[in-house]
Amino acid sequence: MTLSPAAAIDEPSHTQRGSAMDAALSQLADAVRLLGLDESTHRTLASPRRSLTVSVPLEREDGSITVLQGYRVQHNLARGPAKGGVRFHPEVDLDEVTALAMWMTWKCAVVGIPYGGAKGGVRVDPAQLTRRELERVTRRYTSEILPLIGPERDIPAPDVNTDEQVMAWMMDTYSVTKGHSVPGVVTGKPIEVGGSAGRAGATSRGVTIATLAALAGAGAAPEGRSVAIQGFGKVGALAARFLQEQGLRVVAVSDVSGGRYDERGLDVARLVDAAREPGYRLADETAGSAVTNDELLAMDVDVLVPAALDGAIREDNVDQVRARFVVEGANGPTTPAADAVLAERGVVVVPDILANAGGVIVSYLEWVQNLQSHSWSEAEVELRLADLMRRGYEDVADLAASRGITLRQAAHVIGVGRVAQAARLRGLHP
Ligand code: GLU
Repeated sequence: MTLSPAAAIDEPSHTQRGSAMDAALSQLADAVRLLGLDESTHRTLASPRRSLTVSVPLEREDGSITVLQGYRVQHNLARGPAKGGVRFHPEVDLDEVTALAMWMTWKCAVVGIPYGGAKGGVRVDPAQLTRRELERVTRRYTSEILPLIGPERDIPAPDVNTDEQVMAWMMDTYSVTKGHSVPGVVTGKPIEVGGSAGRAGATSRGVTIATLAALAGAGAAPEGRSVAIQGFGKVGALAARFLQEQGLRVVAVSDVSGGRYDERGLDVARLVDAAREPGYRLADETAGSAVTNDELLAMDVDVLVPAALDGAIREDNVDQVRARFVVEGANGPTTPAADAVLAERGVVVVPDILANAGGVIVSYLEWVQNLQSHSWSEAEVELRLADLMRRGYEDVADLAASRGITLRQAAHVIGVGRVAQAARLRGLHP
């Protein structure tokens, strides 16, 4: 499997980014220390409940067969069924999927939705697949993880490089096997097959709510504040639009090919429209001037939104970060070493498990609608999303202020604390 040239230029490799699992375990250890939990609880929370590695044989268009690796990890089920996305990416491995599953556990707990955490992935570059190959990969992967998933067991959703169509194929594969339609087995589906109004923009709406709350917490009005956004996919593009609608000035955006910069603010609506075209690359844009991903992270802006992959802000580039606020649209974009430097400098970092929780919140709302065969209007969904996001933010900000800890530490203390308490109440079987 070859990387596309654009991806090879701009995306730091796993070795550069460090291990996502090391990051997740170090955040857990910090929360365990702050909560004063005992060693056996720590060990339980550090271990995934179930991990499944599967082979996904794919018949290519030329008749040859490639065997891909796929994973589904359920990290913790103490608070409810497992929940979390599926990503298709050439660097997916068990370590990354396990870390992402652990982050889902804390994320669901911190915003108070009744789920445990899971994640799945297939190690593949979907840009190298035809649409029919993508469908075959999705269906075979779904069949292989079928023993683990179900509306009461584990509910997949979109993540990096997976979308509504992929969810429709997953739902269909599961339903065909069961012999009847089971819309509640995945979330992030197209509305026509049981998806929720407001799911597509949910993560970006949540990022916007988190940004406004962080600014308000520092007594800063949103109007005219400059923002740079790394990642112009499902999360970054709509976050750019919603932040601009709230009066912020989106001065830079980037995707894997590179980015564009305009001090007066980019024409975000046009870029978001253009990005709907398959194969779109910001590097081919003419608006403003060109910036690299590294330059974007180093911009003198009020707010930086890393909304691409994990390990974007690292020990080797954190000294260049000049933003006063970092709002994590991606999962794990800041390594623990870089996080410590930002905390030391007084940069407000709204952590991933809070900042990007809007997606899984509306996934939860979608699942509730599916279980009741009911549907809410977009306005109803947005109200519930805003309510859960604001409550989550307030809990975290209040704890951070009262204990003199960072927002990331507070979010982990709340998330880990709620899971530990649920596990304690349930007790150990047998
Ligand atoms: N993939 C998203 C996340 O990392 C959404 C997960 C979901 O909706 O289950 O939060």
